[in-house]
Amino acid sequence: MQPESVQDCVDCLALGERNWAHLRMCLSCGHVACCDSSPHKHATAHFGSSQHPVMRSFEPGEDWRWCYVDTAIV
Ligand SMILES: [Zn+2]
Ligand SMILES: [Zn+2]
Repeated sequence: MQPESVQDCVDCLALGERNWAHLRMCLSCGHVACCDSSPHKHATAHFGSSQHPVMRSFEPGEDWRWCYVDTAIV
């Protein structure tokens, strides 16, 4: 899976903003988006629009994954 962006939330850039906190990457399509600590929460928005359930951290040194579906079930 190739990330579509190396270091930016493309949805924030589309809004002309760069004030995200951390980045996540969708494991289904490579979409890079900002986390829930960021003002626009684009990772959650991506799940809402695409139903792609699994994101992983896109921060250096982090390799954890996050599944919206598993979390929703709990
Ligand atoms: Zn964003
Ligand atoms: Zn996706």
